Amino acid sequence: MLSFPFARPEPGIVTRVADGLLWLRLALPFTLDHINVYLIEDDDGWIVYDTGIGDEETKQVWEGIVRDHLGDKPLKRVIVSHYHPDHIGLAGWFNRRFDIPVAATLGEFLTAQVACFDTTAETFANVQAFYRAAGLDLDGDQMTIEYTSGYRKRLTPLPLRYSRLIDGMQLTIDGDDWEVITGGGHSIELAMLYCRARDLFLVADQVIAKISPNISIFAGNPEEDALGLYLASLAALRARVPDSVLVMPAHNLPFYGLHERTRSLEQHHDIRLNALLDHCRDAPRSAVDCFPKMFSRPITNYHDRRFAAGEVIAHVNYLYLRGRLTRETGTDGVERYRTVS
Ligand SMILES: [Zn+2]
Repeated sequence: MLSFPFARPEPGIVTRVADGLLWLRLALPFTLDHINVYLIEDDDGWIVYDTGIGDEETKQVWEGIVRDHLGDKPLKRVIVSHYHPDHIGLAGWFNRRFDIPVAATLGEFLTAQVACFDTTAETFANVQAFYRAAGLDLDGDQMTIEYTSGYRKRLTPLPLRYSRLIDGMQLTIDGDDWEVITGGGHSIELAMLYCRARDLFLVADQVIAKISPNISIFAGNPEEDALGLYLASLAALRARVPDSVLVMPAHNLPFYGLHERTRSLEQHHDIRLNALLDHCRDAPRSAVDCFPKMFSRPITNYHDRRFAAGEVIAHVNYLYLRGRLTRETGTDGVERYRTVS
């Protein structure tokens, strides 16, 4: 059983989860309406782990936190777990406003840069072709608007410099070692922070209670084995991090029960993989044909359909790359999968 030692705080309220470790819940303008960010106290300042989205409201919340909650110590550094806008959104603002460095992995920092500038007509055509092959006919104008402004408008301009985090690197914070552990699947090279001496584990979106992190394929890397990378990361976490840690995710509540949660996430994906194999046994199916087997609710709006297609493709890629599905492209340009019996 997972256990949850803290109640849900209101947005903007600071919770002390351990000595020198603060948890702050920031609002998000999405269905997933909040993100957890954390502050770690070092002897000469505070380290921010994830920033929230790059909007005015979130800046104002941070100004209040810095004014009222950090005692006499300044902010000294920002660590960004991954390139998604709710995590990296204010990294550039922190860098300029407080004159502090930003640390991230190479994979995440460069992906953020590419996502900000990859808005050419050729990119749109590639994206449209990707979703068309999945069986999804998306409205071209909406896609253009989404791609020209979708990612970049949720970020303040990225910092011009960053410092690179690498898996296995130890950061000394207030005399304790915090190990950088990276994982793929949800993002490229998501950076988690593990403090062995204090049994504390900051995981961002890699392991979340109650919801399964989004594992998706995108047009720029259509053959990626995102689910394989994710499942490998879950197994690696059990080998590297003990079950006794307090897990501090970016969404929902901090919890105990890391190993159980990684196993139930594996099971969740396993059930979906088997459902896809069953569904593609009697007839070849496109990604869109597989929606009802993967999701219990109807997938209707534009964003949900895109996300759903990305998720299904992560699962079919996993099976296709392991020889469990074959793939054929129809005269309509749609890719369909069939189970290898
Ligand atoms: Zn994320």
